Amino acid sequence: MTTPGPRGGTVSEVSYEEWRARAGRLAPATAHRIGGADAPQSPGDAFDLVSPRDGEVLARVPAAGKDEVDRAVAAARRAFDEGPWPRMRPAERKAHLLRWADLVERDRAELALLVSLEMGKPIAEADGIELRAVINGLRWYAEIADKGLDEAPRTAPGSLALVTREPAGVVAAVVPWNFPLTMAVWKLGPALAAGCTAVLKPAEESPLSALRLAALADEAGLPPGVLNVVNGPGEVTGRALGEHPGVDVLAFTGSTEVGRHFLRYAADSNLKRVWLELGGKSPNIILPDAPDLDAAADTAAWGIFFNAGEMCTAPSRLLVHRDVADRVVERIVARASAMRVGDPLDPATEMGPLVSSRHRDRVLSYTDAGRAEGASLLVGGSAIDRPGHFVEPTVFGGVTPSMRIAREEIFGPVLSVLTFTDADEAVRLANDTDYGLAAAVWTSDLSAAHRISRALRAGTVWVNCYEEGDYSVPFGGVKLSGHGRDKSLHALDKYTDLKTTWIEL
Ligand code: NAD
Repeated sequence: MTTPGPRGGTVSEVSYEEWRARAGRLAPATAHRIGGADAPQSPGDAFDLVSPRDGEVLARVPAAGKDEVDRAVAAARRAFDEGPWPRMRPAERKAHLLRWADLVERDRAELALLVSLEMGKPIAEADGIELRAVINGLRWYAEIADKGLDEAPRTAPGSLALVTREPAGVVAAVVPWNFPLTMAVWKLGPALAAGCTAVLKPAEESPLSALRLAALADEAGLPPGVLNVVNGPGEVTGRALGEHPGVDVLAFTGSTEVGRHFLRYAADSNLKRVWLELGGKSPNIILPDAPDLDAAADTAAWGIFFNAGEMCTAPSRLLVHRDVADRVVERIVARASAMRVGDPLDPATEMGPLVSSRHRDRVLSYTDAGRAEGASLLVGGSAIDRPGHFVEPTVFGGVTPSMRIAREEIFGPVLSVLTFTDADEAVRLANDTDYGLAAAVWTSDLSAAHRISRALRAGTVWVNCYEEGDYSVPFGGVKLSGHGRDKSLHALDKYTDLKTTWIEL
């Protein structure tokens, strides 16, 4: 049974009590998935997974060292070099992926619960937004698996040229915890549809949902070794994948700092192709002629507090025209104050905890920096005194471009408000950043919307909206936000090689 959920979706009709009861009954699998089965762990490391909701240990999870990573890559290698997956009829690959999507839909509530428990996302969003994106993504890429994308251009008479998209080989996908399953599917969907095989390394904070996702792939009948999952710390497990000579493509989503590591690992190993989806410090420009100023303010507030601000695309720099700044900021502060912050398992919760105590402390170091550098704290700014890693929704006014809270990615519920007097100044401020993931502009002037969108250096520009998207449109960044695109047909470019075959007839 479902009921209407956030952002036009639906959520499972489950009460707070029932979610808690289900959480109590969970006994999640923790073993790596290698070659279609739970992998025995060689004696070695394991780590405690702590739930951000209450600070309690959820599970003890094996950490993959070099041996497990070797085994996982070997399984993916065998499945690619010798197995049926890249060789089967594309329609058959599509059928496998669709079966997988159906199983994810069957177990949607369980997967949402795992996500919510491990990384603290409100259950309504885990279920209604994340799982929806996962199921839609698997189906979207399943559907393109059998759409011929090869070419046979007319060349010289007496010859035939074929341009075929060949699967690139073994893909390692290293992903973050903020949308643990969506980020995985943004890589796995196109990679597997193209005929590649994969090793997924989830973040240390979100291993359980990824293991369950992979078990469902095996249940759907994907051949052994097509999808493997190894867990462990980035510096060990992620690095071993980055340096592995058996990996052909490394698809990464995470911080800019770790993205640099992956480029180095590739340079020092087999020059594997590295694709980077990195951080952001996205500007959200509100002009006085915004079609609906209240809607612009509400969306600005929703955008920065959604997923507790743990969003690469978070509109963390609000650039608002001086003439309307008071009205817009007052409304955002009211929204922040009214936000229902609490247990992520409560379907009424709007904002949950931050993912870990370490991350909470990092976010609080920015609220301290904002105060110390002279910004004015309008609301929030502190931890919430209850078990778990909760921080208040926070808004700083009077921010100047050189302050750390205007320049660095905070990845928490902290909004920095800057003001401007004309559109040129807004664009200058917006582009005054090392990042280039997303941006937005609110105006009723069609020409201004186009001019400003064109001037903004970002992978996505939203006009009179924020965080809108669809699998048919690409997503990714420029500058320190990375390169390459997830989603859409363009994602196939990451996981395929164009081969030219020239035949003299
Ligand atoms: P992170 O970079 O710390 O970790 C991401 C992944 O990299 C994890 O699986 C981690 O284990 C691994 N890793 C960490 N150190 C490593 C190392 N030295 N070598 C190899 N692997 C390593 O990022 P995070 O804290 O999990 O996520 C937050 C970051 O992700 C933010 O910067 C955010 O903007 C970014 N992000 C970007 C997008 C996007 O699509 N552009 C989406 C979500 C998150």
